[in-house]
Amino acid sequence: MKLAFFGAEGKVGRALVPVLERAGHQVRGIEIGEKPDVAGLDATVDFTTPDAAPVNARAALEQGVSCVIGTTGWDPQPLDAVARERGLRVFVAPNFSLGAVLMMRFAAEAAQYFPRAEVIELHHESKKDAPSGTARATADLIGGDPVIHSVRLPGLVAHQEVIFGGEGQLLTIRHDTTARESFADGVLLALDRLDSLPPGLTVGLLQLM
Ligand code: NAP
Repeated sequence: MKLAFFGAEGKVGRALVPVLERAGHQVRGIEIGEKPDVAGLDATVDFTTPDAAPVNARAALEQGVSCVIGTTGWDPQPLDAVARERGLRVFVAPNFSLGAVLMMRFAAEAAQYFPRAEVIELHHESKKDAPSGTARATADLIGGDPVIHSVRLPGLVAHQEVIFGGEGQLLTIRHDTTARESFADGVLLALDRLDSLPPGLTVGLLQLM
């Protein structure tokens, strides 16, 4: 596919662009301040900031281009109608790592059997939003409004533990992202399935697995 990558020079962008190119995609990086001129491309990929992502997505949709978005910390719901009107797709996932999505799925299953859970999410110190999108999505899946603890420290990439407590037992489900290349499989899957999704907004990699 011919892709525009918003945030290609960011931490995630620098890891993902080479993987997308090795997979056969043609990728054009668009940086902050550059005109989001994407007409004629097959899709955009966005790993930028919560302020930039909705602006980039609206610009892409107005030019007839569907979007795959990993940026967290903003509400994509208003894009649903914009994409639907144009017969386009917006796919947003709080976590593109397949292992993390399985961690969320297993946590949802465990929640049926344990009365209490808490979520600890740990990320690199420059992450702008807290709690993380993955932690919030996990909490929604578990239900019951579990407490979320956010840790920001140098040395971390992206990690999450979901701890379930019951009478005389604890169950811990943990996922560790040790390199940002882990997000590539999910982005490739989303690009592969993008055209088969219903027009409008789709949220979460679980919808594709
Ligand atoms: P980062 O290193 O700060 O990279 C963001 C990049 O976006 C920077 O290069 C920034 O440029 C650029 N940018 C800002 N506004 C832009 C605009 N309007 N157009 C084009 N580029 C723009 O952050 P990151 O660690 O790569 O993370 C990016 C986002 O992805 C965050 O929201 C993070 O939470 C999210 N994320 C999601 C997943 C997932 O699986 N869904 C995984 C990891 C991270 P400047 O540096 O010049 O400002």
